[in-house]
Amino acid sequence: MESDCGSCCGLFPKRRRKESKPTLLIDKHYSKEHLLGFTVEEVEKATQTASKNGVKSTIPIYHYTPPYCNTRTSCTDVPKGSPSQLGSSYIGVQYETSDEFRTGHRAAKVTHCVVRSEDSHGNKMINEYVRERKIGTGSYGKVVLHRSQEDGMFYALKIFHKSRLCKLRVSPTETAMMDVLREVMIMKQLDHPNIVKLIEVIDDPQSDNYYMVLEYVEGGWIFEGCGPAGGIGDARARQYFRDVVAGLIYLHKNNIIHGDIKPENLLVSSDGHIKICDFGVSRKFEDGNDELRRSPGTPVYTAPECCLGLTYHGKAADVWALGCTLYCMVLGSYPFKGDNLQSTYDKIVNDPLHISGHVEPDLADLLRGLLCKDATKRLSLEAVANHSWVVRGYGPVQ
Ligand code: ADP
Ligand code: MG
Repeated sequence: MESDCGSCCGLFPKRRRKESKPTLLIDKHYSKEHLLGFTVEEVEKATQTASKNGVKSTIPIYHYTPPYCNTRTSCTDVPKGSPSQLGSSYIGVQYETSDEFRTGHRAAKVTHCVVRSEDSHGNKMINEYVRERKIGTGSYGKVVLHRSQEDGMFYALKIFHKSRLCKLRVSPTETAMMDVLREVMIMKQLDHPNIVKLIEVIDDPQSDNYYMVLEYVEGGWIFEGCGPAGGIGDARARQYFRDVVAGLIYLHKNNIIHGDIKPENLLVSSDGHIKICDFGVSRKFEDGNDELRRSPGTPVYTAPECCLGLTYHGKAADVWALGCTLYCMVLGSYPFKGDNLQSTYDKIVNDPLHISGHVEPDLADLLRGLLCKDATKRLSLEAVANHSWVVRGYGPVQ
């Protein structure tokens, strides 16, 4: 279900696929993120080549952070020793964590050993997790419901094949594995009631499988059971929208751009609250600069400035996608959608926003503010949190 064929309507993420692993080139332009998805051996080789060519690596080898090193490296099972002693593990990046983030945060567990077995009923098991059923198909792997034999709780396991993803190019210099490792490293830092929690990462150097163990959100996505055709009604849309705004404020405050806000990535918990999932194309930005180049989200939710292939501001692009999502929730259709990818982009950039007459004036005002083509005039999340339609019956989003 890819959109890069150019003929479909742009409902699915643009994730380019080309089977061949890029060569790691360490030159004066590289940053820590370029190392994502390469093995320790590959990084060591590239470092040696760089030094032979007179390029001095600015990141000493002992600063490479394997993905299992959490920002709070308190886990007892983090292997000690230089990276070259760690086997063919994939390189990750250690992000700085703000104090605000650290407060009360329960770090995801990291496990380096996977044991596949069966329970007494013949159900497949991965460590303590007993397989129940498949619940989703991701772009790079599948999502399978499991129940833990330790605490009896359900978990969603996102399962990837490392060798396949390391060969899958998503850009000239990046592989799909880099996206997965970035997703894990971003999720490790997150702790918010409106964001799906990463509970554990299982990455055994002896196994080709890579597992993300996620908190299971049982209600499915926001259109589960009712379909996008008719919308879900203003009252429910307001309740869901407020949760998404709260989650997004938290992300942006902590310098994270989600990059793929859309109904499919908004899951409803048993108590009716939204949890944002899927950080597969998210980005962490530094120094307060949210300027991005590549926009790998889903075409119909793509902001006009991203359709032009120029640099854009990630926060404003998330707000646009939030606007498209609200539009879908209340009107049951996409604000801009053509017959193919190009016509979708043309409409996003050029067509005026159409809001049908039965929409309340303050809701129409909110939609116009979110879906403002000029990113500099688009509503800020703070303004959204205090908008009259959003606060009605509840007060400002905290
Ligand atoms: P992708 O990046 O490939 O879109 P997602 O993380 O969005 O992957 O997962 C694909 C689908 O799997 C989701 O749309 C959702 O239906 C289901 N899913 C993912 N995570 C969970 C979860 N924690 N609980 C329940 N379902 C989930
Ligand atoms: Mg998704």
